[in-house]
Amino acid sequence: KKIREQEKKIQENMKKIKYKVAILSGKGGVGKSFVTASLAFAMSYLGRKVGVLDADIYGPSIPKMMGVQGETVMATTDGRIIPVTAPLGVKVLSIGLLLPQEDVPVIWRGTLSTSAIREMLAYADWGTLDYLFIDLPPGTGDEQLTIAQLIRDLTGTIIVTIPSDVSRVVVAKAINFARKMNVDIIGVVENMSYFECPDGSKHYIFGEGAAKKISEQYGVRFLGEIPIDPRISRANDAGEPFFVKYPDSKASKAILELAEKI
Ligand code: ADP
Repeated sequence: KKIREQEKKIQENMKKIKYKVAILSGKGGVGKSFVTASLAFAMSYLGRKVGVLDADIYGPSIPKMMGVQGETVMATTDGRIIPVTAPLGVKVLSIGLLLPQEDVPVIWRGTLSTSAIREMLAYADWGTLDYLFIDLPPGTGDEQLTIAQLIRDLTGTIIVTIPSDVSRVVVAKAINFARKMNVDIIGVVENMSYFECPDGSKHYIFGEGAAKKISEQYGVRFLGEIPIDPRISRANDAGEPFFVKYPDSKASKAILELAEKI
């Protein structure tokens, strides 16, 4: 009964949000959270009302990247969960802000993961939003399934990858997963595409063109490439929107272009 009540609440909550976009990656460490945070910041910068739901229980990096680490998520007496506010006015709710200890083993956290996602979807008070970006854990497991099942009017998913051969296999898996779940694939973003030296020469550290190739092979839209920029980790660690801090970076231009495409 409780579950049915939650599902009703989720549908009501989701009706107030125009676009609900889940961010997927085949594997960890490809910059999925960075792309989620950047897209959210960029959309807000472009004048949209934006929220981020961080459902990545295995590596909740959104609070730190979006400058809200250590803030407390409030619950009201009537059971609503109030998101915290990040720079540029982006509303953030993270599993990492709900579970107190960061060092609790993942095995134990995993059992809580899908129920925490369900509760955040049901009780979060986003108000009305243009965009809700959902940062999912890497891979295609329970959390991805939960999102696809619970948000019936999910707009679609963006798949983040890097240009390595290993990534091609996992991207194919993510594409097949989304298709099986009847989730629309908005497109594929390639992160860490290349590194540009001060002399202008480009180095393809992880390989070249893999994401574009796989997009073509599967008939999925290629949304663009974001280069490697060492300043990205610095901005992320400081919780600052990268493109605001380093507007001259090619990565910043790529992020803003990406936001305009979605
Ligand atoms: P994921 O969510 O896929 O596990 P993260 O978004 O946490 O990956 O990124 C992993 C690390 O790589 C972070 O330290 C982040 O700051 C860094 N990073 C992400 N994208 C880039 C990039 N284009 N250039 C440089 N560093 C990056």
